Amino acid sequence: MQELMVGFKCKGCSMLHYPRHARCLRCKGTVFEEVELGDECKLLTYTKLYALPEGIEMTPLLLGIVEFPNGVRALGQLKGDDIKVGMRLRPIWGKIRKLGEKDIYGFRFEPFYSPQ
Ligand SMILES: [Zn+2]
Repeated sequence: MQELMVGFKCKGCSMLHYPRHARCLRCKGTVFEEVELGDECKLLTYTKLYALPEGIEMTPLLLGIVEFPNGVRALGQLKGDDIKVGMRLRPIWGKIRKLGEKDIYGFRFEPFYSPQ
């Protein structure tokens, strides 16, 4: 089953946060409810990293900032050969790096059409 990304909506002022914060950035509230961010987002900007922390197996690493329709922005790894600013992406849950002997899972973003 596909995992969905969730954001954290402040009960006090309705501001959406991602990732989770201990206190609302706007009203300092501490009560949040989880809301699904959806399965589609838009790439705002990205960068290629060649000097990588140990355990990341993708070189170069593409790191991008995406925006969901509800305005939430998230930072994550990108997958795909033909990455362009403004393109539509979807969050995919999977292994993103190794930390020692441990596999670390998280979301990465990839285009809707996946060239093989
Ligand atoms: Zn708030």
